[in-house]
Amino acid sequence: MRTKFLIIGAGITGCTVARLLQQRGEHDAVILEAGSEPGGLCRTREIRGHILDIGGGRFLCSRFPEVYEFIFSHLPRSEFNHFERVSKISLDGHVIDYPIEFNLWQLPPEKGRGYLKSCLQAGEVDGRPQPTSFEEWIRWRLGDRIAEAYMLPYNRKIWGVEPAEMDIDWLAKIPRVDTAAILESWRDRRFDRSRMPSHESFYYPREGGFQRIFDAISATVRDKIWLGRPVVRLERRGDVWRVNDEIDAEIVINTAPWTAIHAAAGNDPALREAVDRLRISAIVVSLYEEAYEHDWHWCYYPDEALRFHRQFFIPNYAPQSAGGGVYRETNAKRWLPGGGEIFSYVNDAAYPIPVRGHAAAIRAVREHYSTKKLYGVGRWGQHAYHNSDVCIREAMLLVQALVG
Ligand SMILES: Cc1cc2nc3c(=O)[nH]c(=O)nc-3n(C[C@H](O)[C@H](O)[C@H](O)COP(=O)(O)OP(=O)(O)OC[C@H]3O[C@@H](n4cnc5c(N)ncnc54)[C@H](O)[C@@H]3O)c2cc1C
Repeated sequence: MRTKFLIIGAGITGCTVARLLQQRGEHDAVILEAGSEPGGLCRTREIRGHILDIGGGRFLCSRFPEVYEFIFSHLPRSEFNHFERVSKISLDGHVIDYPIEFNLWQLPPEKGRGYLKSCLQAGEVDGRPQPTSFEEWIRWRLGDRIAEAYMLPYNRKIWGVEPAEMDIDWLAKIPRVDTAAILESWRDRRFDRSRMPSHESFYYPREGGFQRIFDAISATVRDKIWLGRPVVRLERRGDVWRVNDEIDAEIVINTAPWTAIHAAAGNDPALREAVDRLRISAIVVSLYEEAYEHDWHWCYYPDEALRFHRQFFIPNYAPQSAGGGVYRETNAKRWLPGGGEIFSYVNDAAYPIPVRGHAAAIRAVREHYSTKKLYGVGRWGQHAYHNSDVCIREAMLLVQALVG
């Protein structure tokens, strides 16, 4: 069999690519999906009436109007609820609003003052040069006290590696420190919501879960998805790729982790070091039934005595979900079953870990393969901390570059 486009992975990136190609009249495409169902990290399950996004916390928020336009053209805006974000940090036995630096006034005064001093004495405020390791960067940005009580343990928990091993080039998502505003919030005992660094507000489907967005986008390309078909062999034959010894593809678009795809392509030793640097962490999502009466959407837990790092309160953003549903995210290295969960799911590929040198590594891998018409896009194809909206936008840019 021959196809013009072969897409590896039927997550939101792969299906968006197929949909965009279809919208441009390019119908000759096949999507090979390793799993038994499409959706990847955007899948939702209903368990005892609880709407569970099994890939972990999943909220729609984008800085790209074209992404909203694309999504809402498939699932109308009226199908979503819109929320002002309510997220908390559990710190030192207290719960305060996120982000920490603007909400220190919510702590008992003694503790709050200690953390405030940490912010005000941080390296960035002193004009010291920006360090290059994530650990040093955290200390430089928020001071030692906040680093040690919150940012370092939290990041250790989520990534499963030491922040000292990590780079800082992915930090566009982390807020810049504004000391005047921090002091103002401390003095006025008030948080100006416009200072929320990201996801200040978000959309969530009124029915079902986040997967509804994926379902709507992928509906017209479902017949192109071949399930249970992992790409295990990629061979360059003349001007095509022979995939799994059965399909000849002119152009291959990869949305799966490169380790598997590089192995399928023969493990060229010239790229081994680069591919080894594309490390991935696994996250377990576990569901519980608990009684609570608050309006939090989610809460961060830096305390290393707790295995999980984030907890979500489902009906607070999905009122269609049964009461009392809570789910947790735990790095798979820290996960222990049997803690009262009614369901758990392991996401083997959850976070691309930005270890030092990862940016040069992914550049080398993508450049190597793109000269042979094998393009990487999305969270794994670009090995970048992309949310699903960014995956959609990157899919748009790739399709634009390929077919105009
Ligand atoms: C904990 C967590 C929280 C997040 N929170 C948000 C959020 O609030 N908002 C948001 O927008 N985004 C969020 N994201 C990010 C978002 O989920 C992802 O960016 C997006 O779903 C990635 O889509 P993808 O298609 O690129 O990758 P995936 O969804 O991982 O899809 C890749 C697909 O490739 C398949 N595959 C793998 N290997 C092979 C192979 N060899 N052959 C064929 N197929 C293969 C996989 O089975 C999978 O279906 C979060 C992610 C995580 C982990």
